[in-house]
Amino acid sequence: MACSKFLLISIDCWRCDALSRTNPSLLTPKFDVLTRDYALAERFFVTAPATRPSHTSLFTGLYPFEHGLFGQTYLKMFAGVTNLLQAFADAGFEVSGRSQRPDVFRFLDYEPFMGPLDPAIDDQTLASIEPTLQMLERFATAPQLRFLHFWYTHGGYGLSGMNMNPGLREMVEEGRQLEALRFYYAAATHVQEFLLVEVLKRIDLSEWTVFIFGDHGEGFNTEIMSHGDLIHEKVARVPLLAHIPREGWTLPARTLSMIDLFPTICELAEVDTGYCGYGRSLLQDGDDERWALTELDSLFGVGFLHKANLETEHRRVTSRLSIDGSQLPDNPQGVRQWSLTDGRVMFRQDETKGESVLRDVISGEALESADAEKYSGIYRDLVEGSAYRGLGEQAESAKEKEALEQRLKDLGYL
Ligand SMILES: [Zn+2]
Repeated sequence: MACSKFLLISIDCWRCDALSRTNPSLLTPKFDVLTRDYALAERFFVTAPATRPSHTSLFTGLYPFEHGLFGQTYLKMFAGVTNLLQAFADAGFEVSGRSQRPDVFRFLDYEPFMGPLDPAIDDQTLASIEPTLQMLERFATAPQLRFLHFWYTHGGYGLSGMNMNPGLREMVEEGRQLEALRFYYAAATHVQEFLLVEVLKRIDLSEWTVFIFGDHGEGFNTEIMSHGDLIHEKVARVPLLAHIPREGWTLPARTLSMIDLFPTICELAEVDTGYCGYGRSLLQDGDDERWALTELDSLFGVGFLHKANLETEHRRVTSRLSIDGSQLPDNPQGVRQWSLTDGRVMFRQDETKGESVLRDVISGEALESADAEKYSGIYRDLVEGSAYRGLGEQAESAKEKEALEQRLKDLGYL
């Protein structure tokens, strides 16, 4: 029988060490009881270390190079991409997204479904969970797809308005990493134990499919402080807590990616979107080798997505990178990176600098003799083999075309 109730919970910047199952110093006893029977994926990876491209992969089942949001500051997706929220609304589901930072989804195809977590207040840091509970109760008998997005765990970690001296970055630079992390863990505890539990208490697990995940992790070390700086094992690997109301279901043992949730949800709901992406439904078992891709592109417009710019009228966004026909400024410090992981090692290629590294993806330990050719080949096969390659023709500006050409050159195409 088809499943008709889906709850997707995104905890922004949620790292693998920010839940009690992996880090007993987090005191979340109520959350632990309520999620006791959820499976925890040990090898779950995001497609991008940035909120917009990562969520766009969640809602499309596509990698950034396929859906068009190569990086955080890309304004729009490629046209013609199916998104989960629209597809389920069309299929008769009650669909909504409630976020502590709804404007971060501005200009994306699924933006019309996004609203504040608490519509009655201005500062979503102070959001009450009650309107969400009322919504769940009001539509108790309807098919539902609900998305909740908690921003409290994002950079700032609820410290705004406090005079922090030294700041967290300085603490990390001084070698006081664990002290800095306490503030982050406190924010993660706040979301899990004081906000989420009130939702989870009301979820009947015999009816609901629930996924709780990070959209990317966070750095907190001297190599990377915040998630968008580069692709790193601390930001690419995140927790996924999964509950599917199917007798005997277990998480597949293979490496998992954010793009897997789209086909999983569609299969459970029996909604056919004609999906041909690389995501694999979590209902299909198998522990075969699999390489998960993560992409980062900060070449353009970094710093553009502040409040005032996010209020720009839709009609003024004239391309994926342009407002009123003018392209967003280049970012001189920008990078373009991709990484591949099989859940054991991570290979990262920096296209801007032409540098690569190979690491143990769990411990971060550097590994010798990176066989760059092998990994470039896997990446090239993903790009070449994509059923959505045609959408890439929409790359518009001269600068963007130039970057794309360079990328193909680096991969040995041109
Ligand atoms: Zn994020």
